[in-house]
Amino acid sequence: MSEANEANDCLFCKIIAGEIPSAKVYEDETTYAFKDINPKAKVHVLVVPKRHYANVAELAEKDPAELAHIAEVAASIARDAYNGSFRLVFNTGLDAGQTVFHVHAHVLTGETLDE
Ligand code: 5GP
Ligand code: ZN
Repeated sequence: MSEANEANDCLFCKIIAGEIPSAKVYEDETTYAFKDINPKAKVHVLVVPKRHYANVAELAEKDPAELAHIAEVAASIARDAYNGSFRLVFNTGLDAGQTVFHVHAHVLTGETLDE
């Protein structure tokens, strides 16, 4: 399957395009953030690049500035929603629990997190 076809079938590309509804938390030219549908913390936000990359390794290789920007957006969300503390998780690959193959940062905050 080509990259274009993967993107066409991609759940998060459809969310970014507004074809599937989501609870928007933040948006700019390159980046979109929305509430996770199945939150694992009091505040659980997904931050994604608008361009389709399969995982954080591909993003780091092809657009490192966007990866850094995602970390800044995560910090800003944690400051707005809580006291600035947050956990940033990129599940990468099936064995790590990645289920959506459009890179996304899980931002977990809003409470004291379990270790
Ligand atoms: P992964 O398991 O790939 O690291 O994370 C995928 C995340 O996407 C999961 O936490 C899951 O709850 C979330 N998710 C899956 N489908 C949807 C959806 O349609 N809307 C939203 N807002 N989150 C979703
Ligand atoms: Zn996508």
